[in-house]
Amino acid sequence: MDFKTYIRDIPDFPKDGVVFKDITTLLKDAKALKMTSEALCQMVGDQKVDKVVSMESRGFFFAPILGVHFNAGFVPVRKKGRLPAKTVGQTYNLEYGTDTLEIHADAISPGERVLIHDDVLATGGTALAVCQMIESMGAQVVQCNFLLELGFLEGRKKLEGFKVKSLISY
Ligand code: 5GP
Repeated sequence: MDFKTYIRDIPDFPKDGVVFKDITTLLKDAKALKMTSEALCQMVGDQKVDKVVSMESRGFFFAPILGVHFNAGFVPVRKKGRLPAKTVGQTYNLEYGTDTLEIHADAISPGERVLIHDDVLATGGTALAVCQMIESMGAQVVQCNFLLELGFLEGRKKLEGFKVKSLISY
């Protein structure tokens, strides 16, 4: 399947000069949704996974599907202040300023094998923050798995040392 044909470019979203990759056109197509789910699972192979961790909010579409496939739990990472119980946070740099992501402190146990999933790898800042969060909790990142990678932004370089796989590359 040519997955790229299901992804739509939206110019000047969320701000001028950005060409946003819209994946809702892939999600709404039954065949593409199924094939994408299967392909994302295949990218992980037969590695053992205890938890699938994903970041707000577009990572949440496929992460629970990966969790079901690998008999693993799903753990959401959210923006600061949105999770109700005690959290562990990680602050990271944006183009201008910083942002903080949080995870429930009891969501991951030391020694667990964690698969990280997000829809898009752009600069890699978000994924790196999540990897650091998982390692600070004493768990192991087995792979970072993306639906789509914007290769020209070189996010992979930022994630050096982690196994990175993406289904579609631009
Ligand atoms: P990064 O931290 O790698 O620069 O940005 C990745 C995050 O921004 C992901 O969580 C992703 O959802 C979002 N993102 C950045 N660019 C795009 C895009 O073109 N399309 C979509 N769907 N998400 C994007």
